[in-house]
Amino acid sequence: MDLALITGGSRGIGRATALLLAQAGYRVAINYRQRQAEAASVVAEIEAQGGSAFTLQADIADETQVMRMFAELDQQAGVLRVLVNNAGILFTQCRVEDLDAERIQRVFATNVTGTFICCREAVKRMGTHHGGKGGAIVNVSSAASRLGAPGEYVDYAASKGAMDTLTKGLSLEVAAQGIRVNSVRPGLIYTDMHADGGEPDRVDRLASMLPMGRGGQAEEIAAAIVWLASDAASYVTGTFIDAAGGR
Ligand code: NAD
Repeated sequence: MDLALITGGSRGIGRATALLLAQAGYRVAINYRQRQAEAASVVAEIEAQGGSAFTLQADIADETQVMRMFAELDQQAGVLRVLVNNAGILFTQCRVEDLDAERIQRVFATNVTGTFICCREAVKRMGTHHGGKGGAIVNVSSAASRLGAPGEYVDYAASKGAMDTLTKGLSLEVAAQGIRVNSVRPGLIYTDMHADGGEPDRVDRLASMLPMGRGGQAEEIAAAIVWLASDAASYVTGTFIDAAGGR
C-alpha cells in the first residue's frame, strides 16, 4: 500500500489534507507535535470512512525527532510515495524593529529547516537512485512569500520565501529520480493559526477585502495539495499553486 506522510496533520489544513489523502487511497501517516488526542481523532475519522492511518509524534524542528519519526515510518507496511510538508508556525503581528533573533530562529527552525530535513529523508526513501519508486512532495508555503507581510510578520514571509526556493531547487535536483516537488501557497484560510493574538475580527476584515470577498476553507487548500500529489499532476514539478482568493 502507498504511504502518505503529512506533517502537522492533527488540525486545520493538515487535517483536511489527511482526510482527502485517505479518500484517494493512501495509508496516511499523521505527524503531530503535541496534540496526540487530536491526531488520534483524525485516524479514527479516516478508519470510520474505511481508510487506513496511524500517528507519528515528532517536533519537526528537532532533527533527532524527525529521524526517529522516519525510522518508525519504515516499520510500517507500505512504501512512502507522498510527503506533505504542512507543519508551520506563525507568531503574532510584530514590526521589524521588535523582532528578536529567538523568534526568527524558531520560525525558520520549523518552517525551513524542519521542511528541509523531512524532504531529505523522503528523497532517501522515494528516489529511484536509492531503490525507491518515486513520489511527490508538496510544500505548504504561503501567499506571504510573494507579498512579504510588511508590518505583520516579515519573519514568517521570509521563511516561506525560503521554502519556495527549496521547492524550486529540490524539484530540479530530484526530477531524474522520479520525485516531483511542488508547493501550494494559501492566502487567508480560516484555521487555528489565526486564533490567538492580534486585533479582534482582523481575519474577517482582511477577508472582506480580498477579490473573492472571503477567506478560504482548509478543504479548499487540501484539494490543491492532493491534486499536486496525485498522478493527475504527473508532469507538474517545481511549480506553485496560489490558492488565495485572487490576492
Ligand atoms: P494550524 O496552526 O492549525 O496548523 C499548523 C500545524 O502545524 C499544527 O497541527 C501544529 O501543531 C503543526 N506544527 C507546528 N509546528 C510544528 C512542529 N515543530 N512539529 C510538528 N508539527 C508542528 O494552521 P494551518 O492554517 O492549518 O497551517 C498549515 C500550514 O498552512 C502552515 O504551514 C501555514 O504556514 C500554512 N498557511 C496557512 C495559512 C492560513 O491562513 N491559515 C495561510 C498561508 C499558509
